[in-house]
Amino acid sequence: MSGDPEVVVIGAGPNGLAGACVLARAGLRVLVVEAHPDRPGGALASDAGTLPGFVHDVGAAFFPFAQASPAFRDLRLDEHGLRWTFAPIESAHPGPDGSVAVLARDLDIVERNFGSLQDGGRMRRVCEWHQNIEPSLIPAMLKTFPAIRPALGLLPFAIFRLAATFMRSGARLSKAWFESEPAQRVIPGLALHTDVGPDDMFGSGIGYMLAVMATTGGYGVPEGGAGAITAAMIRKLESHGGQVQLGARVKSIVVRDNRAVAVVLADGQELRASKGILSDTSAPALLGRLVDAKHLPGRIVRKMANFAQGWGTFKLDWALDGPVPWSCELAREAAVVHAGDSLEDLRSFTNEVRGGALPSNPYLVIGQQSLSDPSRAPAGKHTLWAYSRVPNHAPEGDWAEIKARFADTVDARIEALAPGFRDRVLARRAVSPADLEHMDANLIGGDLGGGSNAWHRQLLFRPVFPWFRYRMPVKGLYLGSSYAHPGAGVHGMCGYNAAHMLLRDL
Ligand SMILES: Cc1cc2nc3c(=O)[nH]c(=O)nc-3n(C[C@H](O)[C@H](O)[C@H](O)COP(=O)(O)OP(=O)(O)OC[C@H]3O[C@@H](n4cnc5c(N)ncnc54)[C@H](O)[C@@H]3O)c2cc1C
Repeated sequence: MSGDPEVVVIGAGPNGLAGACVLARAGLRVLVVEAHPDRPGGALASDAGTLPGFVHDVGAAFFPFAQASPAFRDLRLDEHGLRWTFAPIESAHPGPDGSVAVLARDLDIVERNFGSLQDGGRMRRVCEWHQNIEPSLIPAMLKTFPAIRPALGLLPFAIFRLAATFMRSGARLSKAWFESEPAQRVIPGLALHTDVGPDDMFGSGIGYMLAVMATTGGYGVPEGGAGAITAAMIRKLESHGGQVQLGARVKSIVVRDNRAVAVVLADGQELRASKGILSDTSAPALLGRLVDAKHLPGRIVRKMANFAQGWGTFKLDWALDGPVPWSCELAREAAVVHAGDSLEDLRSFTNEVRGGALPSNPYLVIGQQSLSDPSRAPAGKHTLWAYSRVPNHAPEGDWAEIKARFADTVDARIEALAPGFRDRVLARRAVSPADLEHMDANLIGGDLGGGSNAWHRQLLFRPVFPWFRYRMPVKGLYLGSSYAHPGAGVHGMCGYNAAHMLLRDL
């Protein structure tokens, strides 16, 4: 890059890169500085963490929003080498009693396999209705809040019906809609991808969206690993003259006359940014640490000091000698398998994690990427990826002591649904909340959600009122990470919206 950058983007996660692409495309000189010493992507990357020849996703692995995200559509990542693969079934929710409910893009499969024929028919109608409103609903939900223009595309009846749906807890919605246990565990189970429990007020929205979007965009996986999305974004960025610098941790932001003018790296180097700084960091790190508290309103500094993080995440990868021998046939064809037996099981899990304990029967999100993407493992072998939610801090001792024991508990839960699973394991990697935070400073205490996803942490309150439209209390500084609206997930919209706000201000 000739000359100083005009915009510095702090962090090369999907949101930082989406923002950087928009800014570079607009003609600005953009430099992305990334703390990780040898790879960009943040929680969107792949490595060979078990055995040679196996490709594992270090964080995000399934991308319901990627197909529908206005940012990803606009950036046309397919033109930069991104290829998607899909399993026949998106999500299977098997129980130990042999029952199952599944989500698939083929609604005939859903109708036949959603707990009971009546529940299958009901779910089919919900998904068909959603398909009609999705083109207006997704921009309304993901663009800068309040996204009035896209919301106008929704008819009043649709808005009323959505409000009636989202106002309920996941458990109440499921019980109102479905009669069979397998169907009832799907929506509240999916909400536990975040920190929203089955009985939480207004808790149905996240589970509902993940369920219906499994049947529209699907839970696709990128060919070659999740890092392929990051690689495509970097190619896009470079095609507009932008650059990424690895091993460049920002330790402070220089503020002059209430304007952010430069970043200082851990090695002392100062990089000026004449037109703005877009931060793909956590909100608490940005407001009070990178920007000195003396430049910020005291109320904001206090709020950040007590910021509500989401739960921790305990993640595992396995290299397998063959596919997982699920007792449930449909799970053998599913991109994602969810282990959560019943509403009661999901409730006890939630209570244990909220109470600071390790879950005794961990709810699991289990990914089978190599089913649809054979490039993830040597011929005939498979990868497996899973996570459970856990407290942010180790309940006793430290994570290093607990890791192997809790990983064995996870193995036991999978073995119960797939007898013979353990015999197929060639290698296992366990990643604690502390390991995740060490890999990516945004994952505070292993929180994968950019802060809590409870209803009162969204929209106007994300990350803190009144700074919910990406501008920060210091001029020229924008927050574009998942700590901003619309929050967690790989859709690039936080960075994309923040970049548009910066351009608007210029
Ligand atoms: C285990 C796990 C599983 C997940 N599964 C899914 C999934 O299946 N589907 C899905 O859609 N989402 C999933 N997610 C969530 C998703 O990965 C995140 O929501 C998304 O990555 C957030 O993107 P981001 O750009 O805001 O932040 P991040 O991806 O966290 O990237 C932030 C980047 O900023 C860098 N950084 C931070 N501080 C500094 C600094 N001071 N200086 C320089 N660089 C800095 C970090 O190193 C990092 O590279 C998962 C996350 C985890 C951890």
